[in-house]
Amino acid sequence: MQQTGELRAFDAARADTISSGHGHPKLVWFDDIRVLFAATGLPPEPETYELFYLHVSQADAALSRDIERLLEEGKLDAEAVEALRRGHVTEIATAEILELVESAQNGASRLADRLGVSEQDLKTYDAALSAGDEAIAGSQSMHDLGDLVQQLRRANASMMASNRRLAADLADAANETGRLLDRLDAAEKVARTDPLTGLLNRRGLMDALKAAQQVAEQAGHALSLAMVDIDFFKRVNDQWGHPIGDEVLRCIGGHLASQALKKDPDAFAGRYGGEEFLVGLPGLGLREAAAAVDAARAVLARQVMRRASDGASLGKISFSAGISQHRAGDTPDTLIDRADAALYAAKRAGRDRVLPELPDRR
Ligand code: GH3
Ligand code: MG
Ligand code: MG
Repeated sequence: MQQTGELRAFDAARADTISSGHGHPKLVWFDDIRVLFAATGLPPEPETYELFYLHVSQADAALSRDIERLLEEGKLDAEAVEALRRGHVTEIATAEILELVESAQNGASRLADRLGVSEQDLKTYDAALSAGDEAIAGSQSMHDLGDLVQQLRRANASMMASNRRLAADLADAANETGRLLDRLDAAEKVARTDPLTGLLNRRGLMDALKAAQQVAEQAGHALSLAMVDIDFFKRVNDQWGHPIGDEVLRCIGGHLASQALKKDPDAFAGRYGGEEFLVGLPGLGLREAAAAVDAARAVLARQVMRRASDGASLGKISFSAGISQHRAGDTPDTLIDRADAALYAAKRAGRDRVLPELPDRR
């Protein structure tokens, strides 16, 4: 249990910096990261460093919780790092979004140039009109006036042509902006979607949860949250391989989402990371939510999964879940933490079960 000792040393170092308030935090983080590398024996790769940095700088409470638990269980290995990175270090389509923003900026500056040209056309037109004005005042004959009318007609025709070009350019710009907005919309959707299951990813879940909490507080409605974790999933991967494991994730994720939507059209489900899912159940109190998730569990418990190619049986695959109910002042993290604690209790109690959180003793 050498790891636990080092974990304590690491926590104490952090508490010290926070309370004493001196010392450069980044240097202390560096020390903490070093302790983590020593405790896990992981090679000092940049990906791992980045993950540890997010943890020690307390940038992601959920990540820290996962890391601390894995450390406690002595399971923070290379595979776990990879899974954590998949869940927490979302390399969102940043490049694509930047490209879209740049192209929107280019469009805007092209339009500004174009408007500059139109302004010039307008000045020329104005100059022609003023010249016409002066000429009328000083005109001697009908012949002079005839010339003048010709001159003004030409200025007018040129202005109208210029206006038509400007109108066409503005319409093009509006179309282009519409296309850009569609692409931004799509990029944003990608940034919120888990590519494996097509459900919300962690980022999308956090946003959905925050919004649901606001609605629940404002409307005075109940909101419950389930943290679901597939039981002994590592065995599925070990025995059947990762691609079948992925298939199981899709299947269970889809099952959870469809069961949740049956309860409420505003219910949401997503992949929190690895083989963990979150299900948001607006309008349901703790007991009702536990019953709903338990019903979804029971449906799964009655089934045997089979490999499509040859019908080989994967046996029964179960999940455990912990349920928490929103309380005034909860943030997404506090609500998730309580669901997670209940999930942990469900695992310890033997798995394949749904447990509600402990009642509020305040
Ligand atoms: P427990 O009942 O305690 O939850 O046991 P478990 O085996 O489900 O839990 P553990 O945390 O030991 O293992 C989780 C496994 O999930 C390990 C990892 O390989 C697997 N996993 C995480 N993400 C993915 C993924 O995207 N695809 C596949 N196929 N497996 C994944
Ligand atoms: Mg898990
Ligand atoms: Mg599991």
